[in-house]
This record gives sequence, C-alpha cells and structure tokens, in this order.
Amino acid sequence: MSHGSNLRIDPDRLWDSIMEMAKIGPGVAGGNNRQTLTDEDAEGRALFQKWCEDAGCTMGVDTMGNMFATRPGEDPDALPVYMGSHLDTQPTGGKYDGVLGVLGGLEAIRTMNDMGVKTKHPIVLTNWTNEEGTRFAPAMLASGVFAGKYAQDWAYDRVDAEGKKFGDELKRIGWVGDEEVGARKMHAMFELHIEQGPILEAEGKDIGVVTHGQGLNWLEVTIVGKESHTGSTPMHMRINAGRGLALITELVHEIAMKHQPNAVGAIGHIDVYPNSRNIIPGKVVCTVDFRSHLKEVIDAMIAEFDERALKLCADIGVEMSWEMVGTFDPPAFDEGCVEAVRNAAKELGYSHMDIVSGAGHDACWINEIYPTAMIMCPCVDGLSHNEAEEISKEWAQAGADVLLHAVLNTAEIVK
Ligand SMILES: [Zn+2]
Repeated sequence: MSHGSNLRIDPDRLWDSIMEMAKIGPGVAGGNNRQTLTDEDAEGRALFQKWCEDAGCTMGVDTMGNMFATRPGEDPDALPVYMGSHLDTQPTGGKYDGVLGVLGGLEAIRTMNDMGVKTKHPIVLTNWTNEEGTRFAPAMLASGVFAGKYAQDWAYDRVDAEGKKFGDELKRIGWVGDEEVGARKMHAMFELHIEQGPILEAEGKDIGVVTHGQGLNWLEVTIVGKESHTGSTPMHMRINAGRGLALITELVHEIAMKHQPNAVGAIGHIDVYPNSRNIIPGKVVCTVDFRSHLKEVIDAMIAEFDERALKLCADIGVEMSWEMVGTFDPPAFDEGCVEAVRNAAKELGYSHMDIVSGAGHDACWINEIYPTAMIMCPCVDGLSHNEAEEISKEWAQAGADVLLHAVLNTAEIVK
C-alpha cells in the first residue's frame, strides 16, 4: 500500500535533536567524546529514552545494555521491523557517526505519530551498545553478542585501558537490562549511517543503497634473509629481507589495482629485524590487508599473492612464508530490504547509487540472523572518526526520509 511521497520527516526537528545530543560528551574540537559505558554515555541514553517515551514508545533493555524502543503495531503476531544504530562515539568522534541512524529513526517515529500512521508490524528503534570498540575491543560488541558471534561472559570480561571490565562498567552506569540478549526476533532491520567515505559526495548522490559490506583477509608474512654488515658485505653476497619487503609491498598494491573498483590492499604493519642502520635486515614480519565485497575477489588476490610473492622472494634468495591471521567474509545484505531502500529513494526523488560499506557496522552482524539493509548519506570529504566530521541538514533529511519509507513499506501501513 502506498502512502505517497509527500510523507516527509521534519529536517529541523531532526537537526535540533542531533545538536542536543551532541551537547552530551562534547569533544575538544567541536565533535564528541561519548565513549561507551561512560557517564556521558549514560546521560545520552537517558535523554534518548526520554525522547522515545515522549514519542509514545516503550523502552526495553537487554543484558548487554542494548536499548529497544517499541512503537506498537496493529497485528500482535507480526514480528517488529527494527531500525537504529549507535550513540557511542570515538574519543575524538563526530556528531553524526551512529547518532544519525538512531535519531533519524526517532524522527521517523515522530513523523509517523504526526501523520497518525498505523502499521501492521510493530516498529522498534535500537541503540546498540559499544559499536565503536575503542574503549572495549572489539567493535560492534553488543550486536555481535545479540547475533551469537560472541558469548556474553566473554563480552563482560573485555577490559579497557584502565583495566575496568565491560560488565562492571555497564552495571556502574545502570544500564544492565533484564531482557535476555538475542531473544528478540526481527522481521527486518534497517540502519541509516553516514558513509564515512568520499564516494557519494564525489558522485553528487544523496543516498547510498548499501548492497554489501567489505570482507577482509589479513596475512602475516615472514621474510627471512641473513643479517650482515651493511658496509663490508659485498652486494652479490647479500640476502636482504628488506628487498623482499619492497617487492611484496609493490606486489600487494599491483594485485589490488587489478580488481578496481572492487578491492583494496596494503601492507600496514611492518617489523624489521634487527632494525639497525648498519645491518642488512635479516628478517621482516609484516601484515597484508586485502579487502573486497566479493569473496571470489579476495580469494583470487590471496591465490595470486601466494604464487607471485613466493617466487619474487625465492628469486632474490630470501625465504618467505605467510599465515592467515584474520578473516571476515563480505556480508551481502538482504535483497528484499535493499530493494525497499532503493525504492524509497526512487519514490522520494532522491539521487542514489548502489554502494559498498567500507567500514563495519552493527547491521553486518544482524544481517547474519535477520533480513537487513543499510542506507548511507554523504559526509563532507568522506571524513569520519574525526571531530571535524560534517554533514548537511539536507543529507540528513534525505537519509531519514528514505529510512522512514523503507521501514513503512516493510512494516505495512494499515491506515
Ligand atoms: Zn558508526
């Protein structure tokens, strides 16, 4: 059932709410420091709860502190349609990363209330605990427990830099809920988020229809040569692990370039032994990071790296070996949910394009258990995880409008 493209969110009310939330845990340079399970996080949660209750929603909280504000539906047997993101920030974070998805959802509910819209499915707005992972690694911790990726006990034992435990801090700020984590069932889930990359702005698009997330493989590479004096070892007698590093660094770049625009690759971490100015490197340990939203591209990059890197190193007399130390398969979002996002953007007349999420999000974990999709809006210069992170009110409006319509089309309007 169509409800027309004239149903729009109130951009000023959304913007005011974002700016109000940004007053809690202000950063030092115009952004935010509202890290998870701090007093500031608790204050942000309380404000969010008040806003949700003012909008007629009932708040539930699970044992990981995940917050669920429910707007009732007309069919008591229908599973809820979820939307949301996270209110925690990096220590030098922006005002929009995560916050836009939560408060954009709140604005969608306020708009439904204004218009007297009733839906068959209930609608639930979520604030996921500790998306950022900066205080308690890993990122997307609580949505990961919800999705069954991590055990709750393990999550509770994560410690911050001061040795404080996640479980103790959650209790201290008063946000251990009584719901069993992961017990909720979802009809679908939508997450609105800023892009955190430069593509939408460069392409002049209002909306990114997120079809996939990025998968990754991390290889730890060890190159072994022979330590010897840089002055007295003749050139033809050197077995230089540093040359091996140079060759494979260029190789990784070349392999990723072959798969444009579907792949990235780099050597990020490098340890050189003994790292002395007058010793030819005897050993290098480094990590290769290959990413793509296509599993077959990741596999092809690894296969090519294995074949060519071993040969390049053998040709200069150094030994090379590698092992896989991290792997995350690329998530493909649910086709029906992705289509709901694309149709909403189309109906509303917003320019849009399909896009891959370069960063991890709570939606990536939820997608493993329930139909999920993401909506992205541009951010200035692609800058994020930075206090200077900026978006325009028009971009926020487009994102929240598309969220509203994707959710309404999925939750089925009955009036
Ligand atoms: Zn985020």
